[in-house]
Amino acid sequence: MEPKHRTIRVALAGNPNAGKTSIFNLLTGLHQQVGNWPGVTVERKNGHLEHGGYRFEVVDLPGSYSLTSFSLEERITRQYLMEEQPDVVIHVVDAANLKRNLDLTVQLLEMGLDVVVDLNMWDEFQGSGARLDLKRFEELLGAPVVTTVGHRGRGREQILDAGVRLGEERNARHRHVPITLGTRVEHLLVELSRAIERAASGTLPVPARYVAAKLIEGDADVAAWVHNRLSDGKTLLAEAEASRKHVRSVTGLEPARVIAEGRYGFVDGLLRETQVAPPLDRMELSRQLDRVLTHRYLGLPIFLGFMWLLFNVTFTLGSYPMTWIEALAGWLGARVADALPASVITDLIVDGIIGGVGSVAVFLPNIAILFLGISLLEDSGYMARIAFIMDRVMHLFGLHGKSFIPMLMGFGCTVPALMATRTLESRRDRILTALLVSHMSCSARLPVYVLFAGAFFAQHAGNVVMLIYLLGVLAALLLGMLFSRTLFRREQASFVMELPPYRWPTTRGLLAHTWDRTRVYLRKMGGIILIASALLWVLSNFPRDPRLADSDAHDPEVSAARIEYTVIGRVGKFIEPAIEPLGFDWRMGVSLATGFVAKEVVVSSMGVLYHTGENADEESQTLRQALRDPRYGITPLAAFAFMIFVLLYVPCVVAVIAVRREVGWRWMVFDVAYQVLLAWLAAFAVYQGGRLLGLG
Ligand code: GDP
Ligand code: MG
Repeated sequence: MEPKHRTIRVALAGNPNAGKTSIFNLLTGLHQQVGNWPGVTVERKNGHLEHGGYRFEVVDLPGSYSLTSFSLEERITRQYLMEEQPDVVIHVVDAANLKRNLDLTVQLLEMGLDVVVDLNMWDEFQGSGARLDLKRFEELLGAPVVTTVGHRGRGREQILDAGVRLGEERNARHRHVPITLGTRVEHLLVELSRAIERAASGTLPVPARYVAAKLIEGDADVAAWVHNRLSDGKTLLAEAEASRKHVRSVTGLEPARVIAEGRYGFVDGLLRETQVAPPLDRMELSRQLDRVLTHRYLGLPIFLGFMWLLFNVTFTLGSYPMTWIEALAGWLGARVADALPASVITDLIVDGIIGGVGSVAVFLPNIAILFLGISLLEDSGYMARIAFIMDRVMHLFGLHGKSFIPMLMGFGCTVPALMATRTLESRRDRILTALLVSHMSCSARLPVYVLFAGAFFAQHAGNVVMLIYLLGVLAALLLGMLFSRTLFRREQASFVMELPPYRWPTTRGLLAHTWDRTRVYLRKMGGIILIASALLWVLSNFPRDPRLADSDAHDPEVSAARIEYTVIGRVGKFIEPAIEPLGFDWRMGVSLATGFVAKEVVVSSMGVLYHTGENADEESQTLRQALRDPRYGITPLAAFAFMIFVLLYVPCVVAVIAVRREVGWRWMVFDVAYQVLLAWLAAFAVYQGGRLLGLG
């Protein structure tokens, strides 16, 4: 009669960090004892459990990568496996590193052990998109295979069931798929193992083939064992030595290396047969993508293609909600005008605040789309590539790729871009980059471009906006070249540009980044833009010319005469000579002046100035339409020159303050002065040059 509990002795083996301890805990729960391996301080854990009428006694072996080298852990493991002869070895494999881990599996099988291959970290394996034909894998390996997620406690039953099956079949020794180690050593192995078998006559604790492989490898422990235990030990060792010589002379390699390559080849073949569509790991995938995206010649055109797409989507998609917001602002203004008694305050609210803020609010969708695009480029890892692609271009201009990262941030907002110059190593690069980042069109300028491009270049608005952005980059590069040759000694730092792997951006991350940036824009609308609009309305309505008090406000000539009498009108007239050569009317000049506060204010100012004195029932007229009104005489050429001016002059006061903080007030003064001068000269060149060419 069988005893009530048969005992199965189990050893847990595996690479360090494969999850052995997790599996040990999963199997044994609280039934554990901790001690040391005899004579050494390596921890030894024992535990036990009952399953299906069996008592399992489990030992957690030290983590080891191999059984060939001689670290303490590997020695303990091998000695235990050879001398204690456990009934079952549970080999805990890190499935996420299958190839490397299977080396040990092969060695355990070579030892003739009964191995349950536990593919742990199965969650990570599946998460990586990898697939394995488990049935075929099991067949080819000749050992039962289970999958577990150790730290979540998944797979206990499967391990134990497999353990019971193996334990029961223990003496049958039915399977043992031969593990071939390659033609270079195979015939030697067969001959040597035959000789070993003859000498041992059935007393070997491990397969003769394993002993033969170890002797050819040159394993001193196994050689000593053969020498001491086998009757014909000396002859066998001499034969092994002859085989080693043969391997060396044929392959020119150390025999141990040839055997290791043989195991590696076995694992490779196994995976090739069973791993369905072997997944590219992330780094590999990134390398493949980079071969195209950072290609020497293709990289830049691809980047420009992405930008083209981004600006066109920004403009096209953004124009749908734009009309809704325009309608909403118009409706709100009309309701407020109806609800409140006719008074100066009502006019301030309707024309000043709702008109001003509303004219900026319509660009919210464009801004959000641009930010979404920038977040997408950043989160996917492509942004880092842009710096890499631009590195070569930047060197032509006395800059380098690392400066391009703050410059790219400048597409969002100049202030954080200025702060990002701190990451540059040399002071020269920091100052130089700080002077250039403001030409990277910040998102606050986008409303100006969208407004003018939409009003004067409706058919090609997206492309015109992109052109302006590119001209900004070009200006930055040319100025970089100029400054680095004149203002700075040429000392360039070298650096390593890290390229993180590409990854799919998460929806959540994208939305969070987009919202973070859009919120700043919203906050500006409720703050500085609102105040500036109200102030500008007051300044453009007072003082009032008493002679025109009773005149018809709807008469264009009267309204023009009225505004010229106000503070803004006088300021406008004063600055008019300075901007007349650029093709701008005085309202544009005033808007540019208010734009020092923030670039959105250029638009809100126009919203106030071009609506002032307007016929009250022309509510539906948008700012875009108003700008095209022949009364103001703005030509497409002047509009383009205006965008160039906005592109090149100081972004806003906050940015000016940030320049002072980063590089000092002298550079700040220089920065403001050259930018205003440059903006004027460039707009002048565009407008007058264009007129000479007959463009407007
Ligand atoms: P050992 O060095 O082989 O004893 O490995 P441990 O059991 O200490 O596990 C190493 C790490 O892997 C721990 O952080 C575990 O929580 C984690 N881990 C164990 N099993 C799994 C698994 O199946 N999936 C995942 N994702 N992590 C695991
Ligand atoms: Mg452990």
